[in-house]
Amino acid sequence: MRKILLLGASGSIGSQSLDILRRDRQSFLLTGFSVGFHVEKIPEILKDFPSVTSICVRKEEDYNSLITQYPNIHFYWGDEGLREICEEGDYDMAVNALVGFSGLVPSIFVLRRDKILALANKESLVVGGKLIKRFLKEGNGKLYPIDSEHVAIAKLLSRVDINDVEKILITASGGSFRNMSLEELKNVTPEMALNHPTWKMGPKITIDSATMMNKGFEVIEAMVLFDLPSEKIEILMHDESHVHSLLKMKDGTYLADVSVPDMHGPIEYALYESKVDFDLVKANSLSELGDYHFHKFDPNRFKAPLIAVAAYEAGGDETTILNAANEEAVYAFLDGKIPFTDIEKEVERALEKIAFDKEKVSLRKILTLDQSTRRYCAKRFERR
Ligand code: NAD
Ligand code: MG
Repeated sequence: MRKILLLGASGSIGSQSLDILRRDRQSFLLTGFSVGFHVEKIPEILKDFPSVTSICVRKEEDYNSLITQYPNIHFYWGDEGLREICEEGDYDMAVNALVGFSGLVPSIFVLRRDKILALANKESLVVGGKLIKRFLKEGNGKLYPIDSEHVAIAKLLSRVDINDVEKILITASGGSFRNMSLEELKNVTPEMALNHPTWKMGPKITIDSATMMNKGFEVIEAMVLFDLPSEKIEILMHDESHVHSLLKMKDGTYLADVSVPDMHGPIEYALYESKVDFDLVKANSLSELGDYHFHKFDPNRFKAPLIAVAAYEAGGDETTILNAANEEAVYAFLDGKIPFTDIEKEVERALEKIAFDKEKVSLRKILTLDQSTRRYCAKRFERR
């Protein structure tokens, strides 16, 4: 039985992870979790999982009231708390379903303790990909991604000889505005952007899907996870999100992973460490899934993926600036401070203007650069 620490239990991936833990109590024991600001979710999670011994919340005042309410549980709070629960918690596998930069330090500390990391927080790989790769190469911990495309690619690669693969094709729905021109994008609202055509996800990744920064992040994620250069990875537009990704083989054959767009499948694949011989979510026949449409990716319409990959290939801490500026711009758009079309412009500007020392990547340097990028962006958005 695996002891599980679930970070981000109140979110979209977090609550779907709880579904899987609830269904298979023989294989999993939840021992700890975090909920950010959503402390109202704690009683219902504890009712279902009395095995929990540690919980992390975002705010100190929540921490202060919870320690008297639940004297038998060890509470933590804030970013420090997330690090400590990873450092001290009693678990075999941590599921990192946090959103944004807050997920990086927990990922690193889980691997440092030689534990298993089931990773939905793709920002960890965007910002800390080089560090994480180093850890894994040195034999620290194990990593299983929770992202539909990367689980699809991992499944496909496990069935073929990598030398026979010409390219990996990552599918992209194009997000909420895929049928709009650049001109039409100027007046879109956060409400419109939050309406994704195929997936129900947290707000940040939904906006990242609309700009397609998410796809740029996913190319970086694939480069880190599968140790591939960007030339070996292509984006393919696919409306229905049924084909989760493909391999283009050297003999001209395409191999595709086709299944229902439901994140329970990829989460399950990570939780069972790729040893799943059944699926929670299944289509009984291909016709049930309906039609499939593929289109060429247009880099003039969607610039964000190229900005992201160029930042990663620059080789230093550029992806820290990329990620922090993107997060700040996404939240500024959601708060009505900047138009949608400024998100990628602000990211490009931050990458161009913010100076940093290009010596070897370290966690301390990443944390400092993340903060200075956020200060730079906050000043720009304040002035508007
Ligand atoms: P979400 O917004 O629904 O949930 C995020 C969770 O993180 C919540 O529990 C929230 O309370 C917590 N959180 C946020 N900021 C925090 C902070 N500063 N400190 C502590 N806790 C904090 O997000 P989501 O859609 O579940 O996405 C989570 C991650 O998974 C993201 O990195 C996303 O890119 C990735 N992902 C999501 C999906 C999906 O279908 N939702 C698919 C693939 C990958
Ligand atoms: Mg994805």
